[in-house]
Amino acid sequence: MRFLVLHGGASLREELKPKVEKFAELAFEKETALDAVVESVRLMEDDPDFNAGTGSNIRIDGSIQMDAAVMIPNELGAVINIERVKNPVLVARDVMLKSPHLILSGDGAVQFARKMGYPDYDPRTKYREDKRKIIIEKLKSGQIPEYYHPEFFKEFLGDTVGAVAYIDGKFAAAVSTGGTALTLRGRVGDSPIPGAGIYCGEKGAAVATGIGEEIIKRMASLRAHNMIGDYSLHDICSRIVKDFGEIPFGIIMVSREEACGLSNLKMPYAVISE
Ligand code: ASP
Repeated sequence: MRFLVLHGGASLREELKPKVEKFAELAFEKETALDAVVESVRLMEDDPDFNAGTGSNIRIDGSIQMDAAVMIPNELGAVINIERVKNPVLVARDVMLKSPHLILSGDGAVQFARKMGYPDYDPRTKYREDKRKIIIEKLKSGQIPEYYHPEFFKEFLGDTVGAVAYIDGKFAAAVSTGGTALTLRGRVGDSPIPGAGIYCGEKGAAVATGIGEEIIKRMASLRAHNMIGDYSLHDICSRIVKDFGEIPFGIIMVSREEACGLSNLKMPYAVISE
């Protein structure tokens, strides 16, 4: 079996589903699981509709800091709070394949990206600028009840991207995000944290989306991976999603036999198999 699953973030933006499906088909042409997940995420990073790469969320201070990770069993590459690069997922892949480290952050991640040949690039879009203005207005007028209130995030969360694959007996996972809306500079979500927003092991791969702080506390992706073999993937996804209650959350998974995606919102996702 060959599986590829993509998601475009826990959100209410169902209209992104056709794009996610199109990108899944394109990326499924890649020969390895790692290439397929990296290509999936790269395609979504380059589409300004998604909160990753071009079109990433803008933080309260006006800066854009992005997180990305790739994982295969026993290997990880991640960048945390990287700035001014077009494709954070490609830098994360290079951290895994071309550096002695697993995770690079901030200035060091940017320096590494330049060394690897990724030029200066501004991922800012008008859509995210406008969104940030709306959020700041709502904050000022007291319309935002509390930080990370689920109702608020139903409106402003999402569009983060991720992919998991099982191709020729190999698993891989990749994720990329501009982070949740309304965050402080320096904030790190679940996406680049192995076990939280991404996990790839001997039994399969999982990638999560939603409020990073809640995902880290629950180590959602590692827990989902560890349940493979005990339950069907759909049961595992249901159990993990249930654990989040009303807190916006979504997860995609692959094992040797199954592929699955589930969210308590309307996460656009695509499952492709052969
Ligand atoms: N999980 C991401 C974060 O907290 C956001 C998202 O999935 O939309 O950074």
